[in-house]
Amino acid sequence: MVHAAELIRRKRDGERLAADEIAELVLAYARGDVPDYQLAAFCMAVYFRGLNGAETFALTDAMIRSGETIELGREIGRKVVDKHSTGGVGDKTSLAVGPIVAACGVPFGKMSGRGLGHTGGTLDKLESIPGFRVELTTEEFLNQVRDVGLAIIGQSANLVPADKLLYGLRDVTATVDNVSLIAASIMSKKIAAGADAIVLDVKVGDGAFMKTLEDARELAQMMLELGRHAGREVACVLTDMDQPLGQAVGNALEIRETLATLRGEGPPDFTELVLSACAHLLAFSDLELDEGAGRERAAGAVQDGSALAMYERWIAAQGGDPAEDALPAAPVVREVAAETSGFVRAIGAVAVGMAALRLGAGRRTKEEEIDHAVGVRCLKKRGDSVAAGEVLAEIHARDEAAAEQACAEVLAAYDVGAEAPESQPIVLETIA
Ligand code: URA
Repeated sequence: MVHAAELIRRKRDGERLAADEIAELVLAYARGDVPDYQLAAFCMAVYFRGLNGAETFALTDAMIRSGETIELGREIGRKVVDKHSTGGVGDKTSLAVGPIVAACGVPFGKMSGRGLGHTGGTLDKLESIPGFRVELTTEEFLNQVRDVGLAIIGQSANLVPADKLLYGLRDVTATVDNVSLIAASIMSKKIAAGADAIVLDVKVGDGAFMKTLEDARELAQMMLELGRHAGREVACVLTDMDQPLGQAVGNALEIRETLATLRGEGPPDFTELVLSACAHLLAFSDLELDEGAGRERAAGAVQDGSALAMYERWIAAQGGDPAEDALPAAPVVREVAAETSGFVRAIGAVAVGMAALRLGAGRRTKEEEIDHAVGVRCLKKRGDSVAAGEVLAEIHARDEAAAEQACAEVLAAYDVGAEAPESQPIVLETIA
C-alpha cells in the first residue's frame, strides 16, 4: 500500500523519489486508491521542488501505464506523424497542418484536447462544424487514418487516464505551469497514442504557459528526451505567443481562418507556422524528403487545392458539413477602432483570449457550454501601422452588451505607440 503522505513530505523537503515510488503513487491515484487532496499536495510539492530527469521519466512512464496504448504505425502499416502544441490563443495549427500533410500522402492521426483557461482547444473548434463527431472508437480512428489518411479525435477514455485526472486537478490547484508536469502530461499522451514522429510546438510569451525562451527551451529539451527514450523522433519549434496567432480567436472563426489558409489566403504568421510544422512532419515521414523539399511539397498542396480537398474529405468522414456557410455566425459584429495613430506595438494574448472566453468562446467551469459562433478577429497585428479611427479588431458576439464589453477589453489589449516595435518571427527557434 502506497504511503502517499510520506512521499508528499519527502518531495516537500526536496528529496528525490525512486521510480517505483512515483509509479505506485500515480497508479494508485488512477485506480482511485489515493484521493485528489493528496495528489494536489504532491503536485504543489513538485511545483516548488521540481522533478529531475529520472523522476520525470518515471512519472511519464507511470502515466502511460495507467491505460491502454496504441501502436498507430504498426496498425496502419506506415510511419505516422503527429504534432502537439503546448497551448495558445488563436492556435488552430493542427486543423491546417493535418489536411496539408495528409494531402502530401502522409498519414496523420491525432488525439486532441479541449480549451483550457484562456487557451482554445482543437476539439471545441472542430465541434463548431455541424455534425462533426470527435468521439470515434479506436477501431474507427484507425480505419479512418488508413482509408482517408487523416483523423483528429478526442482522447479516448482509456488512453492515459492518469493524465485526465491529474490535468483537471492541476488546472484548479495552480500547478499547471511546471516543466516536468507539462512534459509528462504531453509526452505520455503522445507516446501512448503511438505516432512514430512528433513535432512539438512550444509556445513562448504572454499567452503561453512558458513566459520566457529559457523556460520554453527547458520544456522542449525535457520533451525531446522523453520522446527519444520511448524511441520516437521528436522536433520542437519554439514559437511566439506574445500576440494571438493569426487573426481569429474563437471556434467557428478559427475554422473559417483555417479554410482561408488552406486556400492560400491565410494571415502571414499563421501560414508561416503551418508550413514550417508541415516541413518538419514531412521530413520525418517515410517520403524521404528533406525539410526544404517538405516545405515545397506542403506549399504545393495548398496551391493545387489538394489540401482543401483533403479537409473536405476528412470533415465529411467524421460526419461534418465541410461547407464554410454551414458554420455558425454571430448575430452581432462590432468594430474596435484605434484611438490614436501609430504602430501596433503589442497585443496582449491573454487579454484577447479572456475577452473571447467571456463572449462565450471558452468555458469558465467544466460544465459551461461553448458558443461556437462568437470570438474576436485581430485585423491589425504587431508592427502594423494604424490611423486613428481605423479598425483594429472585430468582435463577434451574441448580443450588444457582450459586444460592448469585449470591445473595451480588446481595445485595452492593444498597445498603439509612435515607434514601430522590433520585428519578431513566428518561429523563434527549432530544437531537434
Ligand atoms: N497541454 C497538455 O496536454 N498538458 C499540459 O500539462 C499542458 C498543456
